[in-house]
Amino acid sequence: MSDLINKLVVASHNEGKVREINAILKKQRIKTISLKKFNINEPRETGLTFKENSILKSRNASIKTNLPAIADDSGLCVPVIDNEPGIYSARWAGKSKDFSLAMNKIENKMKTVCGMGKKDRRAFFVCVLSLYFPDHNYKVFEGKIYGHLQFPPQGNNGFGYDPIFVPNGFVKTFGEMKYSFKERISHRAKAFQKLNKYIKKI
Ligand code: IMP
Repeated sequence: MSDLINKLVVASHNEGKVREINAILKKQRIKTISLKKFNINEPRETGLTFKENSILKSRNASIKTNLPAIADDSGLCVPVIDNEPGIYSARWAGKSKDFSLAMNKIENKMKTVCGMGKKDRRAFFVCVLSLYFPDHNYKVFEGKIYGHLQFPPQGNNGFGYDPIFVPNGFVKTFGEMKYSFKERISHRAKAFQKLNKYIKKI
């Protein structure tokens, strides 16, 4: 691994995300510094795709710290409601970050579209990681995990929409799974597998 990547700024103020990213990078012996230490705000997410928003965040952190920075833009997509909330996943929880409200909103929208009897409960999580260097080179890595939604929400582990998402091949929601297990199979884990492969090569 190149010295270029010895220290990475994690371009997020989302504690759940930062915790997961730190845990994964620690295994690669990569030191991380949180954006909080630099007193830098996250930019407004004005992009229209996960990729655009991810790059917005990593570029902002890298330019302001003059260090390589990693950002994650992620969210939950529900096909039956036109892949909402998608890039607006965090925003659906409002300023108070109330994910019970956001999960309710999804359930109600799904009911409106197809009723809960005629179930199309498919959903998937997307994670787009971007690694941005002070010389303006960057790389993007995407991971997805497919599953279905289950209401009412179950489990207190994880964060965000974890209590309603059941990955394919499992019966428990992410919210009921051990964090250490989710961390191995999640959309973020898949994106990180690609990132790790890249880091080992440079
Ligand atoms: P952003 O990438 O900061 O715009 O926020 C992504 C949002 O997607 C988070 O606030 C969560 O609501 C949701 N999200 C992303 N990844 C996960 C996950 O692994 N579990 C649950 N919710 C997630």
